[in-house]
Amino acid sequence: MTTPLVEMDGDEMTRILWKMIKDELLLPFVDLKTEYYDLGLPHRDETADQVTIDSAEAAKRLGVAVKCATITPNLKRMDEYKLHEMWKSPNGTIRSILDGTVFRTPITIPSIKPVVKNWEKPITIARHAYGDVYKSVELRADEPGVAKLVFDGESGKHEEVVIHNFKGAGVLQGMHNVDKSIRSFAHSCFKFSLDTKQDLWFSTKDTISKKYDAQFRIIFEEVFEQDYKAKFEELGLEYFYTLIDDAVARVIRSKGGYIWACKNYDGDVMSDMVSTAFGSLAMMTSVLVSPDGKYEYEAAHGTVTRHYYRYLEGEQTSTNPMATIFAWTGALRKRGEMDNLADLQNFADQLEGACFDTLNEGICTKDLANLMEGVEVKSVTSADFIAAIRERLEKRLG
Ligand code: NAP
Ligand code: MG
Repeated sequence: MTTPLVEMDGDEMTRILWKMIKDELLLPFVDLKTEYYDLGLPHRDETADQVTIDSAEAAKRLGVAVKCATITPNLKRMDEYKLHEMWKSPNGTIRSILDGTVFRTPITIPSIKPVVKNWEKPITIARHAYGDVYKSVELRADEPGVAKLVFDGESGKHEEVVIHNFKGAGVLQGMHNVDKSIRSFAHSCFKFSLDTKQDLWFSTKDTISKKYDAQFRIIFEEVFEQDYKAKFEELGLEYFYTLIDDAVARVIRSKGGYIWACKNYDGDVMSDMVSTAFGSLAMMTSVLVSPDGKYEYEAAHGTVTRHYYRYLEGEQTSTNPMATIFAWTGALRKRGEMDNLADLQNFADQLEGACFDTLNEGICTKDLANLMEGVEVKSVTSADFIAAIRERLEKRLG
């Protein structure tokens, strides 16, 4: 390796897996260079969360990061970890610094059949991670009255529209998005599409939301025409826009193998639908791509707290490390591409191959045991699963 990866360590069971993966599957094979940031909750608390900001700045500087799952504190965690403050979600902090889009893709194997039988290839959801209902304000109107949407421009311009004339009680919500973020979203999606050589679908509800959702469609169209159309044509790729309800119907009837870009709420809901239909969250890769081409790879699942508590009691757990291993391979491959290191890219391919070899022989963690068909299933602990991968990796690397 030439440029180090930004390594963001995390919490609980995934922190345990993190170390096992490094010790067994990376350090014996790769001259691993990382800039290490400990995002484990105790260290975030010690540094007043500065470490999270520093790690995101490092990702901006170095270009590729790999992140372990982390705890987002709530009241229970305040007590459990004796925190000084209820620190914000690290993913939220990193996202707002890198300003990106999250791409989630299922890791598919022949023995786990998607619920939708015509899906032959993975479907990647690209979720816009800013604004809309996630940054909305709400009001309870508890008596008759008029609700208005008001805009006071800095120039003195004043606009207002009546939302509703309430005859009785009701509810109200105000939400927003900004062109800058929508534009970043569009760039990230088109770049990822070129990167992975897959078509891009984008859907909103612009027939109903003629200004708000339409602005998304218009910006995507502009960005595509200006910066990507020629490259898409060169590679024989397609970008197409359609209504969200039409998209849902097409997705279900499709063979898969494309990227589906969704607004924040649609992406939240549809990524759960897609991941569940393909198998499990533990078999899902997740990467944050910034508009200027910085990458942060992570697992899509959390820190698997229930398993960690059992681990603390001395139990050998059967937690699935696939998503965390693929976060590493994704990051190593990207680093290899950026630095022109063919060996590093090959190592990432071989490690993923060794994971597939293992699963294809029916060796898996408990969560997958019930999902597999057509192989003799042998459910093992995380440590044994990783050891089985290592054996196959050594064979592949000769
Ligand atoms: P979770 O850690 O994803 O786990 C939920 C359940 O899903 C687990 O109890 C387990 O089910 C199953 N599961 C998830 N990943 C698995 C794996 N790799 N192998 C086997 N089973 C797996 O979600 P959570 O319990 O809601 O959240 C726990 C903590 O993670 C929270 O503190 C949350 O803040 C944090 N979190 C972090 C991220 C992130 O950093 N990206 C994302 C989500 C949540 P069984 O117990 O039935 O086996
Ligand atoms: Mg959700």
